[in-house]
Amino acid sequence: MTQMLSLSDGRQIPQLGFGLWQVPASSTAETTATALRLGYRLVDGAAIYGNEEGQGEGIRRSGLPREDIFVTTKVWNSDQGFDKALRAAESSLKRLRLTHVDLLLVHWPCPSKDLYLETWRALIRLKEDGKALSIGVSNFQEPHLERIIGETGVTPVLNQVEINPRLQQSALRAFHARHGIVTQSWTPLGQGLSFDAAPVQAAARRTGRTPAQVVLRWHIQIGASVIPRSTREAGLLENLALFDFSLTEGEMAAIASLDTGERCGPDPARFEMS
Ligand code: NAD
Repeated sequence: MTQMLSLSDGRQIPQLGFGLWQVPASSTAETTATALRLGYRLVDGAAIYGNEEGQGEGIRRSGLPREDIFVTTKVWNSDQGFDKALRAAESSLKRLRLTHVDLLLVHWPCPSKDLYLETWRALIRLKEDGKALSIGVSNFQEPHLERIIGETGVTPVLNQVEINPRLQQSALRAFHARHGIVTQSWTPLGQGLSFDAAPVQAAARRTGRTPAQVVLRWHIQIGASVIPRSTREAGLLENLALFDFSLTEGEMAAIASLDTGERCGPDPARFEMS
């Protein structure tokens, strides 16, 4: 159903998953179970989303073997630091009612706290202890990546960052490629702001797909893992149907021209919300 990407630690991640940000806690189990039943195998959560209980419950409700599902969660900013991050990961596992996650991420670097290196060391420990099978980061920029790699010798397998046709992050993606880091795109639909752009509309017309599918397929073809969110079954299905069509080189180049560098979310160099 979905392609797999290789991680530098020898494991694999589904290229397509679904995200749980802003999914109400009361319906997260149902959304998760539905998505898994429809064919998704990667569930992107985070402690700050407040719905890890539902994420775990949905996984159990799906009836799928645990090892068939790739589960991600993240350590929140207020839990940065070695001991706090260890405790935060244990709390996430308790809420998920799982023995381990497939991927644990440092949610934001929060450079002015200057705790992301110690937090990264905690994730290395959690991987050694089998609580996280793979470890990575989110919203890290080149200086943050260079620092954790340089200080620990352990390269994150993945960096989950905001990417959409208006914010293509080419330099960061090139850095990832040089270091064997998988790029994972958050807010991949970019609030729909490029749906009306001529290259997206033209590709949608030619392929008979929706603008959302064209944008998601663009993520697939730049080699990123992508985690769109939808709580509607029709939306989940639409976002799943990405592997039976492709964009031409010309269409990819035309979409590349939409890059303006504008973010939907905060700038990771400054974002400190705890
Ligand atoms: P998204 O790009 O997935 O867009 C979600 C919005 O688009 C929703 O309003 C949804 O109803 C709508 N939508 C979904 N499918 C559609 C379709 N086919 N056609 C039209 N509209 C559609 O945005 P997101 O939820 O912000 O990001 C996806 C996931 O990324 C999150 O759920 C979360 O897991 C993750 N994320 C991570 C971070 C981070 O800091 N690491 C930040 C934001 C999001």
